[in-house]
Amino acid sequence: MSAFDVTDKPADQLPLVVDQTFDYVIKRQKRKTIAVHVLPDGTVEVRAPKWLPKYELVDFVEQRADWIVNQRQQVLAKSATKPRFQHGQYHPFLGETFPLWIERAGRSSAQFKDGVLLIKVREPSDSQQIEQALQQWYRKQAEAIFEERMFACFESFPDWFQDKFRIPEITIRKMRRRWGSCSSKGEVTLNLWLMKMPLDCIDYVIVHELCHLHAFHHGKEFYRLLASILPDWRVREALIEQLS
Ligand SMILES: [Zn+2]
Repeated sequence: MSAFDVTDKPADQLPLVVDQTFDYVIKRQKRKTIAVHVLPDGTVEVRAPKWLPKYELVDFVEQRADWIVNQRQQVLAKSATKPRFQHGQYHPFLGETFPLWIERAGRSSAQFKDGVLLIKVREPSDSQQIEQALQQWYRKQAEAIFEERMFACFESFPDWFQDKFRIPEITIRKMRRRWGSCSSKGEVTLNLWLMKMPLDCIDYVIVHELCHLHAFHHGKEFYRLLASILPDWRVREALIEQLS
């Protein structure tokens, strides 16, 4: 009940700007025909027979330029919305994005250092190991940051509220369709992926759930309290939706 119900937006609805030009790599091979491949990272690879003159190859590519641009857009849109777990890929944290820096080590660990997310794993080519280490790191950050923000948000409520209610226990979960929820017993669940959002958004979700301690449904009383604590709550809610 009483979740802050922002649904997951399908990744393919996110706007993405891809330019209309491209470079391509020529691979001379023992083959009879030319073929164009768009690789997952957007690289355009032209596989051509060894004997084919360069101008014919260029002609071939130019005639198919529209198709190649289109293919690249699709491929890049896919990889941009699904952050991949490999060296150099950017991942969000508190509203900013930072590149992964992968190193090999005996046991896995993750830390934020000098502007990068330094991930140590046994096997750097194993993206699952990287994903796991990164997720553990997000969870560790979430435990500290959610608690700190919960405390700060609770303190911004009026005295009568602070006298009547206790600071709720927080459960952290990976959720697909909700950013937070508040049970009738007053326990608050927060979505681990809030860690990707700016602090303004995290505070908004926490304050929203705290308001449910007083008003369990989204009625007038609820919004009166919410607006008294966060007059700009609509802006924050819109930002969450935009970033989701
Ligand atoms: Zn709610």
